[in-house]
Amino acid sequence: MKIVDIKTQIIKAPLKKPFKTALRRVDSLEDLVVTIHTESGLVGYGEGGATAVITGDIISGMIGAIEYIKPMLIGKTIEDFNSILYIVANSIVHNSTVKSMLEIALYDLKAQSLKLPLYRFLGGSRTSFTTDITISLNSIDKMLKESQEAIDLGYDILKIKVGKSILEDFEIIKSIAQTFPDTTLRVDANQAWNPKESIYLLKKLEKLDIYPELIEQPVKANDFRGMRYIRERTVIPILADESIFSPKQAIEILELEVCDYINIKLAKCGGVSNGLKIADIAGLYGVKCMIGCMLEGAISVGTSVHLASARENTITMLDLDAVNLLAYNPIRGGVEFNESKIELNSSYGLGILGI
Ligand code: MG
Repeated sequence: MKIVDIKTQIIKAPLKKPFKTALRRVDSLEDLVVTIHTESGLVGYGEGGATAVITGDIISGMIGAIEYIKPMLIGKTIEDFNSILYIVANSIVHNSTVKSMLEIALYDLKAQSLKLPLYRFLGGSRTSFTTDITISLNSIDKMLKESQEAIDLGYDILKIKVGKSILEDFEIIKSIAQTFPDTTLRVDANQAWNPKESIYLLKKLEKLDIYPELIEQPVKANDFRGMRYIRERTVIPILADESIFSPKQAIEILELEVCDYINIKLAKCGGVSNGLKIADIAGLYGVKCMIGCMLEGAISVGTSVHLASARENTITMLDLDAVNLLAYNPIRGGVEFNESKIELNSSYGLGILGI
């Protein structure tokens, strides 16, 4: 089954409310869908968001990179699956989102050609999952209100974005934890703190018997010493997100013992193959993973759910709320997102464009 064409299309969808972290503010989804067309008529879908502050990607750069890689893939047959994946991985340095998009589309094609849902092709069996939901960085009152709204929608895990100042962040976490004692809190600082102030804040929480499930990326992505400094001084687990893009970085960071958990994102690691590798590496070290997403749509977020099924013993936490943040979902079919509940079904294909 030969690849005959590769196309891209920008999709846009408004968010229900602005998405605000220590790194950025976003009001609407704008991401890129790639389609890989074969001579048999089968079409594979891939998708990725332009997260300039994390992966360095902007939409025009992603389109340019796909146009650059396209001639290397045209004429190749999908049956030569591993060699095509090798081409994608080695076609260009960096560009992790573009590699992820192309891989997603290739995995979609491969699974469709075998008439299997992707998770089945990857050897997974689990089909029901629970995700957290992100509470954007705002005033305490607004964050409390949005936490209540999320809990009313059935979420029992909140991912709290912080990164204002260490004292304000402490007040935010304390207020939400004390107002909603039965809710699990994940705290994401998106690199906003330094090691000493991180410990200052975490110790104050511990004194109040407030123990978030984890603290995500408290310090700069490359501050491995800082991460380790924090980890050695608190019982609250540390999750590495922006610190880990590649399987090799996963090995480095696990060897240095700087985190308790790893956040896998397809757009960071370059796709399904490296996502599986990172999960397997973490498994070797006895470290559990979260699987997360960028602000992106149901095709790429859905692929991460298939990955979670394929590595259910290692990927134990899902942060796959991006589709639920959209005012409407521009993708039809694929994984079923219903607030905190996510279901894989027996359909082939990751979904297609169209409402
Ligand atoms: Mg994060």
